[in-house]
Amino acid sequence: MNINNTIDLDFDKNHLWHPYTSMINPLPVYPVTHASGVHIYLENGEKLLDGMASWWSVLHGYNHPILNEAIKEQVDQMSHVMFGGLTHRPAVELGKKLIEITPPSLTRIFFADSGSVAVEVAIKMAMQYWQSKGINTKNKLMALSKGYHGDTFAAMSVCDPVNSMHSLYKGFLPEHYFVPAPTSRFNDAFDGSEIKVLEQHFAEHHNDVAAFILEPIVQNAGGMNFYHANYLKAVRELCNKYNVLLICDEIATGFGRTGKMFAVEHADIEPDILCIGKAITGGYMTLSATLTSDKIALGISEGEAGVMMHGPTFMANPLACAVANKSIELLLESDWQNTISRIETCLKTHLTPLVSYDSVADVRILGAIGVVEMKHPVDVAAVQKHLISKGVWLRPFGKLIYMMPPYVMQDEELIQIIDAIKTML
Ligand code: PMP
Repeated sequence: MNINNTIDLDFDKNHLWHPYTSMINPLPVYPVTHASGVHIYLENGEKLLDGMASWWSVLHGYNHPILNEAIKEQVDQMSHVMFGGLTHRPAVELGKKLIEITPPSLTRIFFADSGSVAVEVAIKMAMQYWQSKGINTKNKLMALSKGYHGDTFAAMSVCDPVNSMHSLYKGFLPEHYFVPAPTSRFNDAFDGSEIKVLEQHFAEHHNDVAAFILEPIVQNAGGMNFYHANYLKAVRELCNKYNVLLICDEIATGFGRTGKMFAVEHADIEPDILCIGKAITGGYMTLSATLTSDKIALGISEGEAGVMMHGPTFMANPLACAVANKSIELLLESDWQNTISRIETCLKTHLTPLVSYDSVADVRILGAIGVVEMKHPVDVAAVQKHLISKGVWLRPFGKLIYMMPPYVMQDEELIQIIDAIKTML
């Protein structure tokens, strides 16, 4: 019995699963009462600077008056209504905005409720497209090692096989082709031999490959790998040459995080199918979208099913669309490019020197993303406890301590996080 009316941590520990944790020996969880601006407030009164933007999603800060108002206004109209046979202003407005800010060939939008589902939908689109062309052999995918695309089965099947433990689901999980992760770094010289290897995979497998799926420029949960734009350009060219569709998963990189509105712009390419999520609502609610071209959308509709075979209950949820509209408006009205380059400059000035510590293998920065790669895996529980004592919230994984703050975080606050990281090295 919880007699203090505090958050019942015993119940939480015994009954609630948290992401990627054990029910026998879970990582500690910290009870939060509220969040505002760039701060998360714990029940014990501690105030933490949030360096994670709640996993890439919070752009304008927590508890933002304009985003709050957007939700309040919408809830008084309708919080939800089914999208089958009905439509509404928030969805139509959001659709128009997304078509405006994404690459020009992407004109058809499927709204869903999480990043993983957006990836499932993208895969179905690719499969249904080839079916509709009468090509039934293209029923595999090509993906990058160290990639991450979500935790549902089709999405997981194109995640790095080791990191996402494909061995656990052997016999059930579809098996696809994996290409080595790109090695030329974003800012270094490009090693053209990478393309030879890539082309071998295309040449060998293209007849049964429907689509190549990747996270453009930044491979995130698979190792925070920032790779060269020429690699992405080459994938686009090879997809054209070998008749393979290109699915770009910008669920983490979208909405300015890498310094461009979408990371594909670094390589000046357009995908056939684009997945977005996370920051689409400014971190307020769960919503995702899969965008594609007229060619693919109309192709699917001409196929055997005649329709796109997906329809989530909460498709285009009005509350989520309303807050997404406001979040995108706030972003576009802001001087977001300069904001991201301010954050990048601050990270370059203050985070880069950490590379001189013996325990650090590498420091890399792109846009509003800063990564410290350690030589050895970090003890997440111990590191988090220590960082909290310094007033900072981060969630390291593997050998990586990394930050991708809300865009409203100021330089002094970024430096406070970096100073806290320093005390861990
Ligand atoms: N793709 C990428 C690149 C992601 O980073 C994530 C989430 N970490 C997903 C897909 C899955 O999104 P969700 O957690 O909303 O299902």
